[in-house]
Amino acid sequence: ETTKSKTLIEQTEKYGAHNYHPLPIVIAKAEGVWVEDPEGNKYMDMLSAYSAVNQGHRHPKIIQALKKQADRVTLTSRAFHNDQLGPWYEMICELTGMDMALPMNTGAEAVETAVKAARRWAYDVKGVAENQAEIIACVGNFHGRTMTAVSLSSEEEYKRGFGPMLPGIKLVPYGDLEALQEAITENTAAFLIEPIQGEAGIIIPPEGFMKKAYDLCKEKNVLFIADEIQAGLARTGKMLACEWEDIQPDMYILGKALGGGVFPISCVTAGKEVLGVFNPGSHGSTFGGNPMACAVSIASIDVLKNEKLAERSLELGEYFMQKLTEINNPIIKEVRGRGLFIGVELTEAARPFCEQLKQEGLLCKETHDTVIRFAPPLIISKEDLDWAIEKVKKVLS
Ligand code: PLP
Repeated sequence: ETTKSKTLIEQTEKYGAHNYHPLPIVIAKAEGVWVEDPEGNKYMDMLSAYSAVNQGHRHPKIIQALKKQADRVTLTSRAFHNDQLGPWYEMICELTGMDMALPMNTGAEAVETAVKAARRWAYDVKGVAENQAEIIACVGNFHGRTMTAVSLSSEEEYKRGFGPMLPGIKLVPYGDLEALQEAITENTAAFLIEPIQGEAGIIIPPEGFMKKAYDLCKEKNVLFIADEIQAGLARTGKMLACEWEDIQPDMYILGKALGGGVFPISCVTAGKEVLGVFNPGSHGSTFGGNPMACAVSIASIDVLKNEKLAERSLELGEYFMQKLTEINNPIIKEVRGRGLFIGVELTEAARPFCEQLKQEGLLCKETHDTVIRFAPPLIISKEDLDWAIEKVKKVLS
């Protein structure tokens, strides 16, 4: 039988580069936590576009901001000012407790921006000799797919056939303070870390590590950069994941939910002494800071705050984790997470379970072969979560 979904998937396979391996479902409509295929089958979204739709699909306030802005002005480039950028700057600096921000479009571009800022800071402020600056990143990291981001990666498959890689990068095991201490030299510009590694399978560093790593960086005059593109903006039960260890990094990198899943926007925020290294001509983006993105982003952050989505994530996350740990099946190796950012590690491949969950109406994506990631939109109701728990129990019991 030929369905619309089947035809669309075939078309995608035929004409699209095969750089993804999606589950065989076509989403044609979405609202809140629910998505629908062209045949009218409904599914619950348990991935939230890798945490880009923390506010839920098509949140009415965000869509309203989009429509309102679409009727006024969409793009000015940075050759001119626009009336949304200033208010957005002030909001994002207030949110992250920083002096300055720099807007880009995608996460990977914001990571590029952070690395450029850190390198220039090393030369202009710290006094590192020309072309000697080093960035320390963590084994298992995911910072995106640009050349800088894959150069930072420890995954061979992310790098294969793309060399030569960017020099000046060192990797240390995630959560290993001693290794970090040994890796730091007088040329170290920055230590780049995800407070929780999302793509690696929801990996949480040992308690206290972030704080100790931060203190070490301060002592050695090394910038501490938090990539909160996936973990930030209420996902882990705090507005910013660094709040879990009460640290204020030198730089935040944000993306994904910053645009509420409606419009791409990313940024870095930092103190004046760091972002102040950029001058006209040193960095930019045609679409970065465009009025559509800024208007949508302001609404997206308002929703996170007004609907107390961090608190909600914390409360529902604890409840969900509790229910998951009650499932008695030896194939479950570990349940871990913070807020509604949960990984269930299995002793076998997770993909078949994701396919079964799909049959039950639940969309999840395996990460790193053996981990099922549960990260629903944070607006999820307790009732909907209970419905999901029943399905997960059925498939995992
Ligand atoms: N950094 C982290 C921690 C991420 O999780 C991601 C995306 O999954 C990125 C960077 C890259 O973001 P983008 O896909 O928007 O380039």
